[in-house]
Amino acid sequence: MRLDKLLSNMGFGSRKEVKKLLKSGGVRIDGEPAKDGKEQVNPDTSEVTVHGELVEYKPYIYLMLNKPQGVISATEDDQHRTVLDLLLEEHLIYDLFPVGRLDKDTEGMLLITNDGKFSHSLMSPKRHVKKTYYAKIEGQITEEDIALFKQGVQLEDGYVTKPAKLVMLSSHPTTEIELTITEGKYHQVKRMFAAVGKHVTFLKRIAIGGLPMDEHLSVGECRELTEEDKRALF
Ligand code: URA
Repeated sequence: MRLDKLLSNMGFGSRKEVKKLLKSGGVRIDGEPAKDGKEQVNPDTSEVTVHGELVEYKPYIYLMLNKPQGVISATEDDQHRTVLDLLLEEHLIYDLFPVGRLDKDTEGMLLITNDGKFSHSLMSPKRHVKKTYYAKIEGQITEEDIALFKQGVQLEDGYVTKPAKLVMLSSHPTTEIELTITEGKYHQVKRMFAAVGKHVTFLKRIAIGGLPMDEHLSVGECRELTEEDKRALF
């Protein structure tokens, strides 16, 4: 790829700023000063440095965000803060988007990437990637509810959900549950509980596939996924 494009993609400024940087002699390719932005570089095989610091080129980035309530799972919104507003400047050089959505009032694990293929595979209904939620519920959960969720519950629009695993965590003083589903219909968890006459008062996604939410991430914080994390997702 062109050297000026690579530098611009990696956050070294606009094309114009990069041109200035190149002119200043601060950029080297394999130790040789590089002044022409049109020069072709292979980021996998060439060593590009800026003021002596190695530029690590990553075409894709994968983030885990602990989404707070009150922010929208979108890339832009006229009225509300979006999940992209919570990211660090170093991430914003990428063309990022959330992998699926959590409702505005839902907290927890949201993946953010610029890799469309990765996002598509995670969201594909064919893959049945598990999503696990922790929720507080108004009302008592019964054995019938657990059995019904296992078998498939009919939502208000007639859709019957795929088998889901409902686990009771506590019934007093608050009803707390863990629910694992393998699909991602609109408001699915809230609608499943509504179908059995219960109301979700708090919802947090705690795992995707075999990857749990990093408990070291405070609400609103994010970190990059490791290769091991990515493998655990599918
Ligand atoms: N189910 C919901 O109802 N809301 C979410 O945000 C995620 C799953």
